[in-house]
Amino acid sequence: MAETTPNSWDARAAASSFYGFTDLPTIEERGTVVLTHGTGPYVVDTEGRQYLDSNSGLWNMVAGFDHPGLTAAAKAQYDRFPGYHAFFGRMSDQTVMLSEKLIEVSPFETGRVFYTNSGSEANDTLVKMLWFLWASEGQPQRRKILTRKNAYHGVTAVSASMTGKPYNSVFGLPLEGFIHLTCPHYWREGQEGESEAQFTQRMAEELEEVIAREGAETIAGFFAEPVMGAGGVIPPSDCYFQAIQPILQRHGIPLISDEVITGFGRTGSVWGCDSYGFKPDAIISSKCLTAGFFPMGAVILGEALSDRMQRAARAIEEFPHGFTASGHPVGCAVALKAIETILEGEGGNPPLIDSVRALIPRFEAGLARLSEHPHIGEWRGRGLMGALEAVADKETKTPFAGHLSVSERIANACTDQGLICRPLGQAIVLCPPFILTEAQMDEMFAKLEAALDGVFAQAA
Ligand code: PMP
Repeated sequence: MAETTPNSWDARAAASSFYGFTDLPTIEERGTVVLTHGTGPYVVDTEGRQYLDSNSGLWNMVAGFDHPGLTAAAKAQYDRFPGYHAFFGRMSDQTVMLSEKLIEVSPFETGRVFYTNSGSEANDTLVKMLWFLWASEGQPQRRKILTRKNAYHGVTAVSASMTGKPYNSVFGLPLEGFIHLTCPHYWREGQEGESEAQFTQRMAEELEEVIAREGAETIAGFFAEPVMGAGGVIPPSDCYFQAIQPILQRHGIPLISDEVITGFGRTGSVWGCDSYGFKPDAIISSKCLTAGFFPMGAVILGEALSDRMQRAARAIEEFPHGFTASGHPVGCAVALKAIETILEGEGGNPPLIDSVRALIPRFEAGLARLSEHPHIGEWRGRGLMGALEAVADKETKTPFAGHLSVSERIANACTDQGLICRPLGQAIVLCPPFILTEAQMDEMFAKLEAALDGVFAQAA
């Protein structure tokens, strides 16, 4: 850690910035890491220290921190047409091209795309679309939104209400009509003697019960991340979506796949819903959509919702919603390049999704090896997103107590060694960039192992 002096970057950051999602006592003790640039999967701070970022920034910088193709695409578009909106029947050519591309790579034959600046806004937008749609179709009472406990859908008032985390109570959220079902985490939520298949069946029965209790005619939609990300990387069982989708379909409730993290290769398929073998009614995308090189989110409406929305909007002449930067031409140009980079290969390089698939066995082996540690209760993951859950007692799955969670101590020990990884609850989460080499992956696990050993040696 650099020394804090009145003019240090740390002191300047602390005096001028209001921090979000940051443990303030930790920052007061450890200081702020102020970064200046990055190379490949590494970022560099103002002191010249380099960190391997095992979380791809915030799950998004999958092509690394210095991708020439992506920066060139942005620069070229800034030179050509640096900004425009998508209101009043005008939009940039890049916006049209990106929408066509997104439908082409989506699970949908036809569809329509609406742009936002973030994943939160994309979820908010789709909730408003559903409210608008049901009202237009003569069912204005269909307003309730179903999600799951531990789900993360964003921070705006609606998407935070969808998020199933207790911390939102400090805002008086969730808003009325947002219902959180059980988190499909078998290891934590499964009952004594219950098989994973029985657990999944119980999740399906719970959904059926909630629909019966609330009334299907009051429910607008069900939103789910294929693999929960910020909830601590929680992959449901392989048959979870097969168990719940028919119930939703029977009641006419759209199933929305929030693919903000899982979209564009993270699970080894283009979409998380491909990995789990289901076709949603709409997809929420962000993060890897631009490989983190531009803030952008997208609502991708599948065939039926797209047609219904178009009819509903036509009936009152317009859909009264949009952001100044919706469909920003630079963002769209960057997204087109990011999709090419991830799915098709760019600049003579193979597609990054091939690297993801090649890296998965090594990633899983690394997680499995570290889970043998006496204080790691479980490893879990799907594709290149994984987590190690720290426990005080492996048998009883009892978590560690105390204010500063053991996962935060492990993450701090990692930072000290030049590895950024993320504590989430009692878990350490890894979500590396797709450009990681095998040697860099080994470096990541070696540093994490040293941090685990150090922290647990103190805890013992
Ligand atoms: N949905 C999911 C699944 C996410 O992981 C996130 C962000 N981590 C969001 C929505 C919100 O996206 P943003 O932070 O861009 O608003």
